[in-house]
Amino acid sequence: MFFAIIKRGGAGDLLYQVQAAFKTYGNCLTSQLVSPGSASKLRRKCSEEETSVLMIERHLKEQGMPEIVEIPAVWLQGSACSGCVVTLLNSFSPGASSIVLRELAAGKHLSIRFLATAMAGSGAKVLDVLHDETVKDKGKYVLVMDGSLPVAGDMFATLGEQDGQERPVRDVAAELARDSALVVAMGTCSAYGGIPAGAPNPTGAISMPELLAREGISTPIVNIPGCPPHPDWFVGTLVATAMHGLEHVASRLDEISRPLDYYGKQIHETCPRRADFDAARFARKFGDAGCLYELGCKGPVTYADCPTRMWNSGTNWCVGAGSPCHGCVEPGFPDDLSPLYRKIEEERLARFQVLGDQGAE
Ligand code: SF4
Ligand code: SF4
Repeated sequence: MFFAIIKRGGAGDLLYQVQAAFKTYGNCLTSQLVSPGSASKLRRKCSEEETSVLMIERHLKEQGMPEIVEIPAVWLQGSACSGCVVTLLNSFSPGASSIVLRELAAGKHLSIRFLATAMAGSGAKVLDVLHDETVKDKGKYVLVMDGSLPVAGDMFATLGEQDGQERPVRDVAAELARDSALVVAMGTCSAYGGIPAGAPNPTGAISMPELLAREGISTPIVNIPGCPPHPDWFVGTLVATAMHGLEHVASRLDEISRPLDYYGKQIHETCPRRADFDAARFARKFGDAGCLYELGCKGPVTYADCPTRMWNSGTNWCVGAGSPCHGCVEPGFPDDLSPLYRKIEEERLARFQVLGDQGAE
């Protein structure tokens, strides 16, 4: 794991400062700290060399190095498969290490203080950090919520304890959402309920927007659906927020709070197999050339830029690999778009075609 909470502010913050100093000044003290090593080695060195770090910080100030603006963030997981964390780690430009350790965008550093799946720390200590950091940065931090929130009982999806009782993550999420500057509903489960909320939904899983409405919380929310979302959709939204402000981002959302820059175009409109659809050249079995509509493609009711952005650093995408689009970014996925490999009936197409082209550039 590439970062670990070792003290207030996290190892990522400390390493970031040290690396920035090394890059700029080539200080021999910093070279000791950034030499290759595991997180534990770094942790040991950081505490051993605390004096050195203080010296570096003072040196940076004296040299008038421009201040890096910190964007504090905490990442909670409810009923989730962790795919949304994996997608973050799969980010190509900026890469995951840049996002966490260096700059998200020029002069901006995303300081993730809590992310259970990717941090080395665990137990009561990291929950204390989560509490202290969010109190310290009340009204300033970004809450990234990944996964849905079960409300049918207190035993589903818990995080830590209070007075000897396990805490439902929905309570923690509501508490943190109330005091955050922005909520990002990361992934389809968080944005709409997703797979955990699929019938018969025994845990009573709801989405983050539903939780906010239920608790009367008015914090702005941006939905980044996808199963999982493309890393660019998340990273690009945070970069836009950091560089241009929340108002700019809010002005570029569709009616279900998705950034139009990524979710503004219908997949069917930009699909390279569209000419096959128009000419009624349909694939009859997997592996055939032609449009995948007869094999269950939900591209005509799905809004995302997968055909042009593509996945895995621009390598390919679902239809390009011969699989129908399943509409993973749409409300009602998976139930309303199932069976996934059956052609969507024409009468259902009309029901879905409500958004239209919303002007993505
Ligand atoms: S493969 Fe899917 S998205 Fe592409 S043209 Fe056919 S129906 Fe539309
Ligand atoms: S092509 Fe469809 S199923 Fe595949 S990632 Fe994009 S929206 Fe999801």
